[in-house]
This record gives sequence, structure tokens and C-alpha cells, in this order.
Amino acid sequence: MSQIYNRVALIGLGLIASSMAWAMKRDGLGGEIMGYARSEETRQTALKLGFVDQIAATAKDAVKDADLVVLCVPVGVMGAVAAEIGPYLKAGTTVTDVGSVKAAVIEAVSPYIPENVNFIPSHPLAGTEHSGPSSGFASLFENRWWLVVPTENSDAEATQKLVSLLQAIGANVETMDAEHHDLTLAVTSHAPHLIAYTMVGVADDLNRVTGSEVIKYSAAGFRDFTRIAASDPTMWRDVFLNNKEATIEILGRFTEELFALQRAIRQGDGDHLHDYFTRTRSIRRGIIEAGQDTDAANFGRGKKAE
Ligand code: NAP
Repeated sequence: MSQIYNRVALIGLGLIASSMAWAMKRDGLGGEIMGYARSEETRQTALKLGFVDQIAATAKDAVKDADLVVLCVPVGVMGAVAAEIGPYLKAGTTVTDVGSVKAAVIEAVSPYIPENVNFIPSHPLAGTEHSGPSSGFASLFENRWWLVVPTENSDAEATQKLVSLLQAIGANVETMDAEHHDLTLAVTSHAPHLIAYTMVGVADDLNRVTGSEVIKYSAAGFRDFTRIAASDPTMWRDVFLNNKEATIEILGRFTEELFALQRAIRQGDGDHLHDYFTRTRSIRRGIIEAGQDTDAANFGRGKKAE
């Protein structure tokens, strides 16, 4: 594959940025990769690991000569970073972000993007519960969706160029508007994370009562919740603060369904429970058929990976 951008600047050097950089380096797609992160420790780690060619001391130094700038910081600081780099962006540059929420990020970033720069927001639907510069790997985006959310000012040619980079690093790309994105992600990602955080919190309370038996006898269901609930606290705080309405809407529906299931259990309504679980089982089959997960037992994890 050939180089798509001459110089890429990554702002934030954690899981998503390092995975993008490794994938671009593997296939020679991004030319020279410049990086900037808040702490000197992260900047030095990125340089030492070798997924960036250079690091900059400030965000504005990082973006000066870049043709593509990727904002890979938590959603809550996207606006502040955009304000810092805005005046230093080259004419014709493309700026994208990888934030998990779109409407709030677009609102926060857009005012700082000069007219001669293309802002094309995006969101890779790929991640792990690990974070930081050492957590990335080149295949993270392979066969995963990457949603591109153009604004009314996003140039079509620049969007196509960005899409070709995302496809070259293995992603399936689809475009979507910001509101639709935020509601969809509230169902598929944000509410499930909150439910996992809650379940693990409840188990932790119970653990104190049962004297660590919850940990000792943790079965697959609970362990899977703990994996999700180990996700980065800053990232997820920002997701909920910035996708408030959609998350609250979905949690409202979740609560109604939970009460209905609770009532079925109390009333011994086995048909209701069986019908419900039959319907949900088919959703999992759909995900497997769409190639988005494995049907191997225990998510294909070997004993060691548990
Ligand atoms: P991460 O591993 O925690 O890395 C975040 C990076 O941002 C770190 O390098 C951090 O620097 C830097 N940073 C934080 N505040 C900053 C600031 N004010 N200025 C400059 N750099 C700053 O996070 P991530 O998982 O890559 O997530 C990055 C973005 O991708 C988030 O917006 C998230 O919503 C989105 N996303 C995440 C996932 C996922 O599963 N993780 C999936 C899709 C999208 P220090 O190390 O110096 O603190």
C-alpha cells in the first residue's frame, strides 16, 4: 500500500493513537508521524517504543506541518486542544478526532478550526480495556467499523482521502450523522459500560459482606463485566458527561425492561423470561454472523488469557 499523507500528527498517545500509528507504520501509510501527549513520560514512552518518528514539546509544534491531525485525547479536552492548535494548522490540512461521542465534540472543536482546514470527525468502534502508549497494536482496527461523521463544512475529497486511510488500516467505514451516532453508541456501548460499572460496584459492596467470595467464585458472567468495568475512568467519565441525553434515554428504557423482568421473576412468569431470552440470544447470533465476534466458547479466550 502506498503513502496517503506525508505527515501525520497524533495528539494524545494512548491506545487509539498508538494502534493507528503502528498500523500506519506497518503499511507505510502516514509518512512521518509526529506525536504529542500531555506528559513527558508518555511522550518519551512513545518515542522509545517507536510508533512516532518525533515528539513535540507542545501540541501546536506537533501540528505545524501536518497534513493530517488526529485528536486522540479524552472527549472532555477535545475543545481545549483544538483551541490550542487552531491557529497553527496549515491550509488544506485535515483534522479528525476519534472521540467516542460526536455531537459534543463537534460543538467543542468546530469553532477553533480555520475555514481553510477540513474538520472530519470520526470514531473507531474498536478498543480494549487497556489504555496508554504501550497498549496499542496494529491490528486493532481490522474488520472493525470506523464511523465517519462529516460536518456540513467537510470537503468531499478530503473526506474520501481520510476514508482511504481508515480502510487501509483495516477498518470498515460508514458515514453517519452525529445525533444518530450518539444514540446508536448509547445503546451499543455507553449504557452497557454503565451497567457493567454498576454490576461490579454492587458485587464489590457484596464482596465486603461475603469476605471476598465474589472474587474467589467469580463466574464467566461477572468476569466479563469486570473486564468492561476496568476501562479507563477518565475516558468513560467524559463519555457520560458528553452523551448525557442519549445515555439517559437508553437507561430509561433499560430500567423499564429490568422492572418487567423483575415482575416476571416475582410472578413466576417463565414464558415471559423464556421468550425474552430467546429474542436476545438471536442478537448474539447476528453479531457472530456479521463477523464482529467469535462463537468459540468463552469468546475464544484460551485458559491463559482468562
Ligand atoms: P488513552 O489510552 O487513555 O490515551 C489518552 C491520551 O490522551 C494520553 O496519551 C494522554 O496523555 C492524552 N491526553 C489527555 N489529556 C490531554 C491533554 N489535555 N492534552 C494532550 N494530551 C492529553 O485513551 P484512548 O483509549 O486512546 O482514547 C482516546 C480517545 O479515543 C478518547 O476520546 C476515547 O473516547 C476514544 N476512543 C477510545 C476507545 C477505547 O476503547 N479506548 C475506542 C474508541 C474511541 P498522558 O498519557 O500524558 O496523560
